[in-house]
Amino acid sequence: MTPDDTTSNRILVVDDETVVIEEYIRCLGANFRPDLANTTLKDLEKVLFGDETNEDDAATFNVQSCDQGQAAVEAVADAFNSGRPFSIVFMDIRMAPGINGIEAAKQIRKLDPNVNIVIVTGSFRSDPEDLGNQIPPADKIFFFKKPFHAVECRQWAAALCGKWHADLALRQVNEMLEQRVAERTSALHKLAYYDPLTELPNRLRLIEELQSMIDEADGPDLHTAVVLLDIERFSFLNETIGYDIGTKLLKSIGTRLAGLMNAIDGTGSAVVGRFGDDEFACLISGIADQNALHMLAEQIRSKIEKPFVAGGRDLFLKASIGVSWHPAHGRDAQAIFRGAEAALHRAKRKSGPGITYYKAEMQHRARHKFSIESELRQAISSGQIGAYFQPQLRLSTGQTAGVEALARWIRPDGSIIPPSDFIPLSEEMGIIDGLFESVLHFVCESLSLWREESDWDIPISVNLSPHQLRNPNLLDDIRQILRGHNIDQKLINVELTETMLLEDFKLAHAALTDLSSYGLDIHIDDFGTGYSSLSYLVDLPVHTLKVDRSFIARLTESSTDARFFQAILGLAKAIDLDVIAEGVETQEQFGLLQNFGCDLAQGYFIAEPMPRQEFHAWCIAKEDRTNVLRTISLVAEERKRPVPQS
Ligand code: C2E
Ligand code: CA
Ligand code: CA
Repeated sequence: MTPDDTTSNRILVVDDETVVIEEYIRCLGANFRPDLANTTLKDLEKVLFGDETNEDDAATFNVQSCDQGQAAVEAVADAFNSGRPFSIVFMDIRMAPGINGIEAAKQIRKLDPNVNIVIVTGSFRSDPEDLGNQIPPADKIFFFKKPFHAVECRQWAAALCGKWHADLALRQVNEMLEQRVAERTSALHKLAYYDPLTELPNRLRLIEELQSMIDEADGPDLHTAVVLLDIERFSFLNETIGYDIGTKLLKSIGTRLAGLMNAIDGTGSAVVGRFGDDEFACLISGIADQNALHMLAEQIRSKIEKPFVAGGRDLFLKASIGVSWHPAHGRDAQAIFRGAEAALHRAKRKSGPGITYYKAEMQHRARHKFSIESELRQAISSGQIGAYFQPQLRLSTGQTAGVEALARWIRPDGSIIPPSDFIPLSEEMGIIDGLFESVLHFVCESLSLWREESDWDIPISVNLSPHQLRNPNLLDDIRQILRGHNIDQKLINVELTETMLLEDFKLAHAALTDLSSYGLDIHIDDFGTGYSSLSYLVDLPVHTLKVDRSFIARLTESSTDARFFQAILGLAKAIDLDVIAEGVETQEQFGLLQNFGCDLAQGYFIAEPMPRQEFHAWCIAKEDRTNVLRTISLVAEERKRPVPQS
């Protein structure tokens, strides 16, 4: 314990002879002279405590006495327990009829670990050094020979009181240090294992928690599951509603999930944590069967879909959910989490918001994804990203009036990876801007090559990923690349899907206005698959609509689709937009589109996307053919003309 009274020098003297006690009191008393002893004590205290020690107090001893060993033990206990412990006990050895001084000292040591005990005797037979073994610690037990000189006794008292105070100070510093270390350790522990924002367990902690849940599982028939949630479009939300509200929203999600887990799992063993930026994990043990698991995942989903109030408005969230469980999907926590991640990944990419349960083949994908990620970074930096080119024909003239550049990853071994395998991945990895730049470089380089061989005035469309509109340097990057290759901006169009435009109209409006004022034409890709609202397009600097190939595919089979297409065409004309039909695969579709008055067509019926040399050769052959056809039709026209009668 920490003594309350640490300033005075409290001394207990124990002896069964009254004269000895009187001698102690005389030589330790305040009026004792000569000054020599006082000076020694003061000097000593100055060394130990610096100059601040109260000089008057420093020389004072507070002396208490006992004439029996047992009484001394009780006095030490009282003093210690009341926070006024002794610094020194001077202890006689033989004190008939009670316990001897050694025995008393042993008991005292048990009560007070800090007091200095001085065994005082005229005839001590055993080895004084052995005292340290009998009454440890050795640095707090001393041997003092009777009869003693008064000054000698006072010097002993001064030295040992000083030592006692120094020991105390040292203990206090140590305690403080220990406490600080404990605090730091717990803070570090918190940092390492808890998410500072939501104060929920972080990824590392979650894995450990799951492992102990698995280790403590009640039997092989009960499942321990991981339900991993990814909040849909959270980064977009965060940017729109502001980071402060976004932070509050994350906290509310955590609180809500934790509340649900508490309600479901009465044992309190379920855990909710933050697994990533906008990813949460729920760990639940003791699940009886798959039905129970499905119900649980559904409960979690519907809980998230209830509106959140943040920043004074209702926010509706959706989550992609991946579920995997022990023991079916792995033996340890790492494996189960990998499974849940693979399922979540599948949920995000394939089915959108909803619950996906782990299946073994997903693991392969997850592993595949990891290796492909590092390979993709490498591919972008080493120029393996290029493009194939697919022509677009003007339906009224049959001439090539546009080209779409479609990204291709050409591996050193010549194998070609389609964009569906790396575009969504590079969006996820946050490297889509770099990928786009590679494609644009490739496109500009191709234009330069073609321009060397002949006049080239056909614009090339490059696909923009919606994420790129958030890149504030987008226009500068494009401008720099075009300038570097000496390419006119009239030769480049950008294609982007309509979904992004509606998600953040203000942002899209600003970005598109910039691109358009620079001179790039803007094409809306996959039109008809999103919100399909033409009204918002009026306010955007858009030039062309590309009607999604799903409409073209049904054009000749469904009169509704044909009417829909015609309606789009009519409205587009009304607001002065060109229309490109995508995915034209048959002569029939081509003919129908021509009849409808559609502007351009693109698709396998005309040509598949081709590598650049092949595409260039195709263009030249096409031009020759068109010229021949044109000549033939001119001749035919001539022939049909009535021969003027002379
Ligand atoms: P998209 O922009 O809708 O591109 C058209 C896709 O349809 C291309 O697939 C093309 O090969 C395919 N296609 C063309 N004609 C026909 C046809 O008659 N029938 C059918 N069934 N398909 C046809 P691809 O090259 O696999 O590209 C797929 C998607 O990848 C593109 O769809 C686009 O969204 C994306 N993409 C391609 N290149 C890039 C790029 O450089 N950047 C970005 N962000 N996305 C790209
Ligand atoms: Ca496109
Ligand atoms: Ca398209």
